[in-house]
Amino acid sequence: MKSFEWTVIGAGPAGIAAVGKLIDGGVKPLDIAWVDPRFQVGDLGEKWQRVSSNTKVKLFTKFLEECDVFRFRMAPDFKIKHLNPEATCLLGEIAAPLKWVSDHLKVAVHPYEAQATTLSLKNQQWEVGLGSEAIQSKNVVLAIGATPKKLNFPNLEEIPLETALNDQLLEKENLGNDTVAVFGSSHSSMIVLQNLLKTSVKKILNFYRSPNKYALYMGDWILFDNTGLKGESAAWARQHIDGTWPERLKRYPFSDPNFQKELASCTKVVYTVGFSPRTPPKTAQFPDLVCNDRNGILAPGLFGLGIAYPEKVEDPFGNEEYNVGLWKFMTYLSKVLPLWMQYAP
Ligand SMILES: Cc1cc2nc3c(=O)[nH]c(=O)nc-3n(C[C@H](O)[C@H](O)[C@H](O)COP(=O)(O)OP(=O)(O)OC[C@H]3O[C@@H](n4cnc5c(N)ncnc54)[C@H](O)[C@@H]3O)c2cc1C
Repeated sequence: MKSFEWTVIGAGPAGIAAVGKLIDGGVKPLDIAWVDPRFQVGDLGEKWQRVSSNTKVKLFTKFLEECDVFRFRMAPDFKIKHLNPEATCLLGEIAAPLKWVSDHLKVAVHPYEAQATTLSLKNQQWEVGLGSEAIQSKNVVLAIGATPKKLNFPNLEEIPLETALNDQLLEKENLGNDTVAVFGSSHSSMIVLQNLLKTSVKKILNFYRSPNKYALYMGDWILFDNTGLKGESAAWARQHIDGTWPERLKRYPFSDPNFQKELASCTKVVYTVGFSPRTPPKTAQFPDLVCNDRNGILAPGLFGLGIAYPEKVEDPFGNEEYNVGLWKFMTYLSKVLPLWMQYAP
């Protein structure tokens, strides 16, 4: 069985950050195994390319420039190099250079195009089951991502979030005879509402639980940094949600007495109600593994990163949020990696 110092499971932005920081931190590339079934920059690369970001271009550039081994200064002339650093952009603009980084990191380390299915701790090593084979590793980073949460309204045909967040795909859905229910009032909700309004959809009913939250720039910190609307979504929401609703849009709180009646008038549904961590590989020895959300430790030599295991942070007013976003994954990693390097089994 092949043996490694580190195994990184997942090749989305968080997995790319982990491989980059490990190599920059002195781990030899060939002492790293990197596991992902596709190596296409995770969901960012495969599903969210047409989503407009809520963070500024400069934070994506900082991510790309953070690790020497990314060699971003030598990268082709990607569009992101010419965008206004203070503006937001389509996530596709960061996915393209990340794919370039991922491709050259993949040939430097030991890649496995596979799904990690099991993890067990034996002789101070993690055995990582990869279906037809297994590898051993002193340390393992889980950067496995998350999937959109759903509600259970089986009578409505679901438009998957990856379609609803892609204006080009949504356009092809022929929604002219449909009344579409959209659940939620997040950044994703605002993009889905705008995308739907660009189609021929007959009517949209937006069901929400709470008032819109807006991020507020307070100098050296941001109120509702992770949960508040930012940039173009915030501007659109102020004008069209907390202002005047567009003609084909109606909004109802969940608690509205007419909720069931209004829902019955819908033919399709989009759920924009958050994300749940993907199910990790089975750890039969430790059936109830919990990630410490202040340092990413799951077990000795087993660590969590990315949207599946985000850092919990507190603002100066004591509000707690989970820190999600590429640059946040990178800064969290800079903080916790010195700890992880010493917390082997
Ligand atoms: C609407 C929306 C807006 C966003 N806006 C921003 C933004 O403005 N700024 C920003 O920084 N980010 C933004 N993001 C991106 C966000 O930060 C994502 O959460 C990020 O892409 C998550 O990266 P990840 O690497 O944690 O997970 P993923 O991208 O999901 O990657 C996980 C990878 O792990 C693999 N994997 C899972 N399980 C296994 C297994 N058992 N074995 C092997 N491989 C496995 C998966 O196949 C996948 O390739 C946005 C996302 C959305 C949906």
